Amino acid sequence: MQIPTNVSLKQEGQYCIHCFSQKVERTYQNGLTYYYCQSCDKTAERSLVDLFFINLYY
Ligand SMILES: [Zn+2]
Repeated sequence: MQIPTNVSLKQEGQYCIHCFSQKVERTYQNGLTYYYCQSCDKTAERSLVDLFFINLYY
């Protein structure tokens, strides 16, 4: 995954894994957490922040 240099992961917030927008909303469906992006109208299971911390963990 290529992360744009203008995106600071130290900044608080959630990022869309598709377009790196911060306009993501956390939604819950069937007991699972999803992130809906208002910018690209896509829903992802994980936000970029989650992926970032997962990568750190492993
Ligand atoms: Zn997006």
